[in-house]
Amino acid sequence: MEQKGKLFVVGFGPGDFKHITTRAVEALQESDFIIGYKTYVELIQDLLTDQTVISTGMTEEVSRAQEAVKQAENGKKVAVISSGDAGVYGMAGLVYEVLIEKGWKEETGVEIEIIPGISAINSCASLLGAPIMHDSCTISLSDHLTPWDLIAKRVEAAAQADFVIALYNPRSGRRTRQIVETQRILLKYRSPETPVGLVKSAYRERQDIVITNLAEMLNHDIGMLTTVVIGNSSTFLYDNKMITPRGYQRKYTLNAEKQPLKPHQRLQKEAEPWAMDQETGLTQGSYEEAAVGLLTKAPAPEKKSTSFEIAMEALSRVSGQSAAQSITPPLVQQEMESLFELAVSPGVANKQFTPRQMMMLAEVVGEKGTMEYTPNHKIILKIPTTEPDSIMEKLQSVGFLLSPIGDVVTLKACDFCDGEKAESIPYADELQQVLGGIEMPKELNIGFNGCGMACYTAVIDDIGIVFRKGKFDLFLGAKPVGRTAHPGQPVAEGIEPDRLVELITNIVEEYKQNAHPNERLFKYFKRVKKIQGYQYQDMAPKIKIEPAPCGD
Ligand code: SF4
Repeated sequence: MEQKGKLFVVGFGPGDFKHITTRAVEALQESDFIIGYKTYVELIQDLLTDQTVISTGMTEEVSRAQEAVKQAENGKKVAVISSGDAGVYGMAGLVYEVLIEKGWKEETGVEIEIIPGISAINSCASLLGAPIMHDSCTISLSDHLTPWDLIAKRVEAAAQADFVIALYNPRSGRRTRQIVETQRILLKYRSPETPVGLVKSAYRERQDIVITNLAEMLNHDIGMLTTVVIGNSSTFLYDNKMITPRGYQRKYTLNAEKQPLKPHQRLQKEAEPWAMDQETGLTQGSYEEAAVGLLTKAPAPEKKSTSFEIAMEALSRVSGQSAAQSITPPLVQQEMESLFELAVSPGVANKQFTPRQMMMLAEVVGEKGTMEYTPNHKIILKIPTTEPDSIMEKLQSVGFLLSPIGDVVTLKACDFCDGEKAESIPYADELQQVLGGIEMPKELNIGFNGCGMACYTAVIDDIGIVFRKGKFDLFLGAKPVGRTAHPGQPVAEGIEPDRLVELITNIVEEYKQNAHPNERLFKYFKRVKKIQGYQYQDMAPKIKIEPAPCGD
């Protein structure tokens, strides 16, 4: 009987084997495949036996999730791993999104088990003392997937609401301003003396712990592996530990053997004048006195207020605005902006932009978006928006060709000598319609040139197509960059035009179905040795070339 596939999404905690759960270890050992980010795979390597490991780089989360689902659907047990907890900035949500995209239902689809792990907020807190004893939140400062405006809004709201805040992804090589701006926002609401803990690589070999304060936190090393824990207005330092009181001191006298309240009195209404369902009869001033003064008899009420009124008054005091102003606009009900990314070009063969198109680009990109011109004669747009459909409509109304970006099929055609050598343009158009934008294991560029001059370098694309004497020549598997770069292999000459689109579609389909995630076409061709009957020839250079990483 065929083995039933299963997906484990495993959070393995901070990385030290003493802090990984038994269930997580069982799942790793039960699995046929382990799929994860390279650094994470290295961290759990010693727990593995004969599992097949598929490790890919950062930013390749989608292909990891897709590969995991594919293998589970083929009957394999697959563990997708995340450090910390897989459901906190980890892989759990993405795996579900890939399943949902395929119409997955729990009853009929592959089984999935999410295995919890210790997230950085917990592991780092344990090293700092007890900073998250009260209401807390996590905020990632990475604006790769979330617009900065929204992150700043969350920081502001959390600061205003006196949450203890754990900042994930506070800084990287290129993202250096976010933590500076975050400190500026926090200082609007919290004292410069507020305790701050910086924990780097918690429970790993290079663990480093710094206790500082809000004013001075940027004087210390903060990087990709640091979690920053910001105390709330009650957090204090004691013997280099951050402690956030839970509030017991309001009901207990910690250093007294005899407590003023008996246990049964501690949950009574009178002992909790701050509770929401109280009709306390207290004014704001008497509320504070009662809260701090531990049931010292409250003065007689001057004016009766409901707890809602007290809350509104408190909100207006914190925000410095009237209560009505301070809840407008509501922080939680705003439509969420997301970053809309796409590529635009004037057409498959056309390389000339019109003034109307340029004006439309400026309009849709506005002040907040970005435009980047690429060597592929396309402009990549990144626009924070809640209305991607309306942006697409506007761009199409001025004749732009729109394509998705990332690991998709991209057709790069020449300009056919400004349209003078137009004979093969219809085939380029058809290929764009049939294949343009289809998702792939890795980006796949199809170069299409209109004559044997091949001056738009089709032969150094993944698939090169050159129109010559009324027929097509085909090149496969170029390696376009690096010291071991080489052109594609000439695998066929004189392909009849009416066969072209079907042939290229078959090649693309075969690669999509069988390549590993992140495996570029030239690597796939080298591994399988044959694509659609075309035989691989070794293109290795005749002399040995040392690999040279970027910067060497
Ligand atoms: S490849 Fe040929 S048709 Fe295309 S632009 Fe160059 S010379 Fe013109």
